[in-house]
Amino acid sequence: MTTSSFLPPQRTLMGPGPSDVNPRVLSAMSRPIIGHLDPVFVGMMEEMKGLLQYAFQTENALTLPVSAPGSAGMETCFVNLVEPGDKVIVCINGVFGTRMKENVERCGGTAVVVEDDWGNPVSPDKVADALKGNPDAKILAFVHAETSTGARSDVETLCRLAREHDCLTIVDSVTGLAGSPLYVDDWGVDAIYSGTQKCLSCTPGLSPVSFSQRAVDRIQARSHKVQSWFLDLNLVMGYWGGGSKRAYHHTAPINALYALHESLVILQEEGLENSWARHCRHHDALRAGLEAMGLEFLVAEEHRLPQLNSVYVPEGVDEAAVRGELLERYGLEIGAGLGPYAGKVWRIGLMGYGANERNVLTCLSALEAVLADRGVVEPGRAMAAARAAYARMDATGSTG
Ligand SMILES: *Cc1c(COP(=O)(O)O)cnc(C)c1O
Repeated sequence: MTTSSFLPPQRTLMGPGPSDVNPRVLSAMSRPIIGHLDPVFVGMMEEMKGLLQYAFQTENALTLPVSAPGSAGMETCFVNLVEPGDKVIVCINGVFGTRMKENVERCGGTAVVVEDDWGNPVSPDKVADALKGNPDAKILAFVHAETSTGARSDVETLCRLAREHDCLTIVDSVTGLAGSPLYVDDWGVDAIYSGTQKCLSCTPGLSPVSFSQRAVDRIQARSHKVQSWFLDLNLVMGYWGGGSKRAYHHTAPINALYALHESLVILQEEGLENSWARHCRHHDALRAGLEAMGLEFLVAEEHRLPQLNSVYVPEGVDEAAVRGELLERYGLEIGAGLGPYAGKVWRIGLMGYGANERNVLTCLSALEAVLADRGVVEPGRAMAAARAAYARMDATGSTG
């Protein structure tokens, strides 16, 4: 018996990532492979750096895509910046802050945890207290866009507090980049990591990172070798930063990098601010439809991420069965709740290429039909509310 080619179904991806990918990105991936030290490829990598600097709004020279998913970008930040014995203030308000703590401890550091309830942003007041109470802390680490809940934290304020206490910052913007305002230089972020499969709408598997000069100085002044060979930036810089004299470090994921290059070109064509505004516009319409169905948001309005919408599952509804039906009958994927919200919320993503009117209307009509079958919503309201929201935004020229 032989196995035949794998032919995945066509889906609409509105979960916490991966998101729908622009066909231009998939087509870029299928272009001819060339060597990773080929001068033409090296030229593409140089362009990629400029495109990433634009996306991050930074002039940091050390800006590159790590050859592995967002989690590897996270590890890159922690293994390079945390040395054994270092104290790191870690903010936890969802799944991804928990992983930061784990990283600090695996690097031999001590984590001082600042906790906020899931669904809330990181509290600047609690962070200020932790910084005052731990003058020996070297780093403040937090998540910009908590994908597990949909809460956005105030990067600018948290970085300013860290700077006042001579702390470097490590920021997770895996879901933030290209979806919500982010100014790495103006806000004084020292180390940041992202992912390709959320608001950049590229395929998964790469992690854009960027490091300030202060962070680079800290890495170069380390007294212990970075424990990870693969993620040691001193070595990676020899490849990505070597100009025409690139040293072989690892074989770059060449076609995946074509894809990222294309998605960043698409972002540049649209304009970063326009991308942020588009996420708000479609979030507003989605919200109008969800609320018309009587669904309530987990996160307070002022802290909500437009790209990740967590809403409570109506009383008595089997949330997994609803997601299963959406996938089977409508080819639509939405996300389940995590941690304390497992079984209690759905997470609806509006990320990158997927933040569009067709996806909003598809999601609302499918969810409304499935919930109306269960007798928990009245049919016919969600679409009208979303369409009215679009009309209102068009009339006022606002984007939400
Ligand atoms: C998705 C995500 C990650 C992990 O990215 P992977 O590409 O899945 O490794 C980290 N942090 C946040 C906030 C995320 O949303």
